[in-house]
Amino acid sequence: MSQASVPIDFRTNAQHVPPKMPGAVQKATARFLGGRAALVELLGEELWQQLRQAGHDLRLHAITHLDHYLVQAEQAVTKAGGQVHWARDAGEANRLVLEIARQHDVKKVVKSKSMATEEIGLNHALEAANIQVIETDLGEYIVQLVGVGPAHIVVPAFHLSKEEIADLFHKKLGVDAPSEAEGLTQIARTKLREEFLAAEMGISGGNFLVAETGTVVMVTNEGNGRMCTTVPPIHIAVVGIDKVVPDWESLTVLLKLLARSATGQKLSCYTSFISGPPRSQAETGPREFHLILVDNGRSRILQTPECRETLLCIRCGACLNICPVYNSVGGYAYGWPISGPTGAMLAPQILGTKVAGALPFASTLCGACNDICPVKIPITEILLHLRRRVVEGDAIEAAVAPSLLRAGAQAGSVVLQRPWLYQLGSKLLTWFQAPLKSDGWISKLPPPLNRWTMVRPLPAFAFDFRAWWRTHRRGGTR
Ligand code: SF4
Repeated sequence: MSQASVPIDFRTNAQHVPPKMPGAVQKATARFLGGRAALVELLGEELWQQLRQAGHDLRLHAITHLDHYLVQAEQAVTKAGGQVHWARDAGEANRLVLEIARQHDVKKVVKSKSMATEEIGLNHALEAANIQVIETDLGEYIVQLVGVGPAHIVVPAFHLSKEEIADLFHKKLGVDAPSEAEGLTQIARTKLREEFLAAEMGISGGNFLVAETGTVVMVTNEGNGRMCTTVPPIHIAVVGIDKVVPDWESLTVLLKLLARSATGQKLSCYTSFISGPPRSQAETGPREFHLILVDNGRSRILQTPECRETLLCIRCGACLNICPVYNSVGGYAYGWPISGPTGAMLAPQILGTKVAGALPFASTLCGACNDICPVKIPITEILLHLRRRVVEGDAIEAAVAPSLLRAGAQAGSVVLQRPWLYQLGSKLLTWFQAPLKSDGWISKLPPPLNRWTMVRPLPAFAFDFRAWWRTHRRGGTR
């Protein structure tokens, strides 16, 4: 399986979230939001807003000139001795990685954290080809041992307690693990050193790709990214085509926005720049560098003006941290590795609304994500457009909402536009609900109206508001 093909049932997933998940998520997101707020305050609100606007403009410029910047990046990487490959979709990207692995008889791969490889389901493809793949970011390493994907795009295992991780290490690695962070990290570090040395190939993502020099930029807080991209003899960087930025000046703006928004840091602990393989015998590092540029639906996203700004995302995770829905259910309810508001925008456009049409509805549309997004993506507007795509269809996809639901919505629209019909409906409703009503509540409605009562009772329709209004206005109680 390269990427999700079974419809994502957000509603059911949300009902099966472990009870401790919301508390653990809220504790962690509050910490990140606090760190971010402190740094924004230090910088000053005015300067921060200027940076956000600059970040937005730079990213928008880059994605609307992708044809130019991607070719420039390709030429620069090739000139530096690297090899560039283009992948139309997830399957093609996985095939390219497997081909390179087979050419070199690779049996073991070490990977640094990369949402692009999560998106294309690279680990499944490698495992299906009998190639062992080891995640080396501490959080990714932990969730891989659990056998699940990341719960958050920046901090994959933040919902697990130290005690749970100690127990996991004991069961999976056969070690006596202390339930304190330093001891746990030391165990993972020792295990991973052996893997870095044994792996024949390292795979990374890339937070940005600087077009003018063809440089892949990796932003991490652990040294594993550098180990993956320098120790094994072959390095493959899998990068979405939307990650390209024109030059180093643009990069400085985006790095400032990313670290502050993601983890509340001025700059991440490691910012690595990879510009091809060694150029002389004296230099060390992988002898081969491959850059796989992945489209996987991005060109299609560019064709829809209402959704185009989805591609500005720098995967900082701030919209997840602030989102009341994400904070209530965590990442797994989204059924895709990229969760929260950014996943709700991206998944239906990459996987299609047949698979991920439920996700744009996993939002209260409160707008907190718009306000916090460092590159000013109008997230709720995009979600609204995607809701319309699901219900009515558009130039990209036909409607996927059940026809009964669509007919109901259309009937509702007709009624709401005609006051006399609305009044008649109000009267009829008070009669029709009588057999379903008990103590002022309706606990069960027949399909397809049962979507509400499946999860909570519905307050019974009490009276005709217009009649109530006439009585009270006459009585002078207005
Ligand atoms: S949509 Fe904005 S806030 Fe959310 S991850 Fe992307 S850049 Fe960050």
